Amino acid sequence: MSENAGYNKQFHIETYGCQMNLSDSELMAGILTSHGYRAADNLEDADIIIVNTCAVREHAEKRVIGHLANLNRYKQKNPNLVLGVCGCMAQHMKEKIIEAAPHVDFVIGPDAYRNLPVAISSALEGDAFLDLKLDKTEVYFEIEPSREAGVRAWLTIMRGCNKMCTFCIVPYVRGRERSIPIAALLAEVRKLAQDGFAEVVLLGQTVNSYHDGQHDFSDLLIAINGIEGIERIRFISPHPVDITDKMIDVMARYDKICKHIHLPLQSGSTKILQTMRRNYTAEEYLRLVEKMREKIPTLAIGTDIIAGFCGETEEDFQATYHLVETVRFDSAFMFKYSPREGTIAYRKLADDVPPEEKGRRLTAIIELQERISLEINKGLLGQEVEVLVEGESKRDPNQLCGKTDSFKTTVFPRDNAKAGQFVKVKVADATGHTLFGEEPK
Ligand code: SAM
Repeated sequence: MSENAGYNKQFHIETYGCQMNLSDSELMAGILTSHGYRAADNLEDADIIIVNTCAVREHAEKRVIGHLANLNRYKQKNPNLVLGVCGCMAQHMKEKIIEAAPHVDFVIGPDAYRNLPVAISSALEGDAFLDLKLDKTEVYFEIEPSREAGVRAWLTIMRGCNKMCTFCIVPYVRGRERSIPIAALLAEVRKLAQDGFAEVVLLGQTVNSYHDGQHDFSDLLIAINGIEGIERIRFISPHPVDITDKMIDVMARYDKICKHIHLPLQSGSTKILQTMRRNYTAEEYLRLVEKMREKIPTLAIGTDIIAGFCGETEEDFQATYHLVETVRFDSAFMFKYSPREGTIAYRKLADDVPPEEKGRRLTAIIELQERISLEINKGLLGQEVEVLVEGESKRDPNQLCGKTDSFKTTVFPRDNAKAGQFVKVKVADATGHTLFGEEPK
């Protein structure tokens, strides 16, 4: 394929789902740019529209199908427009996407992005294109992503997942786990530092099971900590069973590693955790949190929780509620269980919690978490926090915003501070989601 296959053609990528999908969209943009395509300033200018999708919950898939129907009007206006669907939902639904949205020109799964230029050429010749093979070795490590400029860079360090949680579609749509060699990652991080990124976020479905054959996740953290120009290191999402004592020590000892962890709990009932095949008990999760807090007293903890999984009784739900009260997470993403075709739960377990009961449990846990997040954030009133400035606040151009080390969004009056700088801000007010600061000194 010629380097200039895309001469004069502009693409626009829309991303649904997790940070891994954002990172994949940057990868796709990199592939297209290296073939001579250009990023369009907006959707109207695009010759190629790519929707990068998520399959984790049914709701996400329904939203994409609705959105694809809306995008049909661009095809009506411009019959040469190419519309593609990529990512996890593409892999999950396969040709059913074309049945649901016949105006879609290509469908490409997470291991076949290299074929984007071929897919576009086929579409321009009038042929629909599907590439849904999973490739155990594909890590794309020599492809330069087209990153959005900013303070924070996403860096995928491993792809796929071996955990086989019964509720989760990820292993079926992203394949088995494989890690990128440490040398390639370190070269990329050095480049990120040169490009002015102050923060790097390491990504993987179970990011801390990273192993390139010789180096584990802790080795990688230590090595990145030594790279000049990188000021903060984060990672998502670790799996509780892969948190080693070495990793906790490294997080405690190395200054650039943020004292924040997103540690999916899923349920506070050991019975449900077993049905989910999470490989830890509620007690083990709690002990892990206690151990981490002992070694890292300022650690902020976020989590994921699923309400209404197969077989979840009121007693199981109360166990989750109680664990959330005990741990006091800083933040949480909370979901109703959504059966996903192909998963073990879908095949073998009854989705037996009625929808209204799932809704009630979800609302109860959200209300509890909102109260806890507010109490934790109000506890910071009067304290000084260090914020890495990201830029103008979306809500008020007179304010700047950024994140604390503990990943709390902080908004404060515009001063001379610029994106990429660290400022000390005194917390004057707080909601459960945002800290509001006084002018930095
Ligand atoms: N790999 C990570 C893990 O399991 O630790 C996160 C994967 S997923 C993209 C993010 C979250 O979505 C999960 O932690 C889980 O809480 C939620 N999730 C996954 N499958 C789900 C399902 N079938 N129904 C509802 N929530 C789900």
